[in-house]
Amino acid sequence: MVDADQTFVIVGGGLAGAKAAETLRAEGFSGRVILICDERDHPYERPPLSKGYLLGKEERDTVFVHEPAWYAQNDVELHLGQTVDRIDRAAKTVRFGDDGTLVHYDKLLLATGAEPRRLDIPGTDLAGVHHLRRLAHAERLKGVLAALGRDNGHLVIAGAGWIGLEVAAAARTYGAEVTVIDHGPTPLHGVLGPELGNVFAQLHQEHGVRFHFGVQLTEIVGQDGMVLAARTDDGEEHPAHDVLAAIGAAPRIGLAEAAGLEIADRAYGGGIVADERLRTSDPDIFVAGDVASFPHALFDTRLRVEHWANALNGGPAAARSMLGQDVTYDRMPYFFTDQYDLGMEYSGWAPPGSYDEVVIRGDAGKREFIAFWLKEGRVLAGMNVNVWDVTEDIQKLVRSAEPVNTEALADPKTPLDSLLP
Ligand SMILES: Cc1cc2nc3c(=O)[nH]c(=O)nc-3n(C[C@H](O)[C@H](O)[C@H](O)COP(=O)(O)OP(=O)(O)OC[C@H]3O[C@@H](n4cnc5c(N)ncnc54)[C@H](O)[C@@H]3O)c2cc1C
Repeated sequence: MVDADQTFVIVGGGLAGAKAAETLRAEGFSGRVILICDERDHPYERPPLSKGYLLGKEERDTVFVHEPAWYAQNDVELHLGQTVDRIDRAAKTVRFGDDGTLVHYDKLLLATGAEPRRLDIPGTDLAGVHHLRRLAHAERLKGVLAALGRDNGHLVIAGAGWIGLEVAAAARTYGAEVTVIDHGPTPLHGVLGPELGNVFAQLHQEHGVRFHFGVQLTEIVGQDGMVLAARTDDGEEHPAHDVLAAIGAAPRIGLAEAAGLEIADRAYGGGIVADERLRTSDPDIFVAGDVASFPHALFDTRLRVEHWANALNGGPAAARSMLGQDVTYDRMPYFFTDQYDLGMEYSGWAPPGSYDEVVIRGDAGKREFIAFWLKEGRVLAGMNVNVWDVTEDIQKLVRSAEPVNTEALADPKTPLDSLLP
């Protein structure tokens, strides 16, 4: 039983941390809630940073999880701009801030998220090399894209993943010249496989993006601190005024690792190992969001999910688990993207190698379709592109874990719910 004298500490003020704090109060927890984050901004959501906010369509104050006053109103002690640099599991304390403040915890939530991977090549210290994770990065990039658009400048993007492609779309909308470089054979290869990656390649090519697949950046060439070009291992030099490194994110596990918590194998995406209750190898320490590696019974594997919905739902699930409630975190992975006039949602989990068939329902050429990834006739994942209100049915098909009639699945006239067992 949790009593009012207890202190729950949350490290990391992203969506997962902020939602966990909200849930603790909503569930009636009356002890201390302390949320510590190394960013100076109040907790905010990141998806707009590569979409509406970057495009200037959404205002800065729309990205925050709660109004600034919400924290005091809900008695959540917020320490912004403060890094937690040590967990002492024996003493049950965390240390944070320049003065090494120690705070005791009864339960601790690590919602430390992820950080952009860095390019390890010459030239990455030039002023025109950018990353995109934080609000300040987006603010800066927005100015860069506007200037590139105005001056007919060139942006080279390393990485044809979600962030790389979303920024490519934004940059083209501003009028910048855009080149995307990726070592894979198609965009989003590790998530969608080759069949569907081409839909995104075509979309961007139609909007004037140049792709170079199967190559690696070897150097960012500069002069007087300014970017001039990006070189690839095929010997080509691509003109560039700015470079965005969008080569993925790494879970922020340093604190947990130093505290001796179990860390997941990289083959499972890394992250901090948790059970289905989001409890780590220390029963008083919990995880949520991008940093959490949790077992998913439906896919019979351990997953680490770097998506908004996982932070939105994982934070509250971890909070309830901290309160001793009976929690099984088995949300289906779900994410979305918006690029130009393409809107997409994806539910499930089907990386290359896990499926043996892709079924398309609708017209992929017109970019109005649902793609299903199947293994032995069973739907592992579904992606709806410019088709709406089908997520629930897609998720039910995945959850059913039963083989479906693939001809009927491919036929838009057959209602999806009629395919459920
Ligand atoms: C540009 C961008 C666009 C995205 N778009 C989409 C999208 O369209 N759809 C989608 O599904 N997902 C999207 N995502 C992913 C989604 O935003 C993340 O999955 C989500 O932000 C994860 O939330 P989190 O709370 O786990 O981690 P984070 O948001 O990373 O928050 C963790 C916080 O903890 C802080 N922190 C870490 N270590 C410490 C420490 N030791 N001390 C104090 N503070 C610490 C970090 O600085 C950070 O503020 C996008 C991400 C980015 C960057």
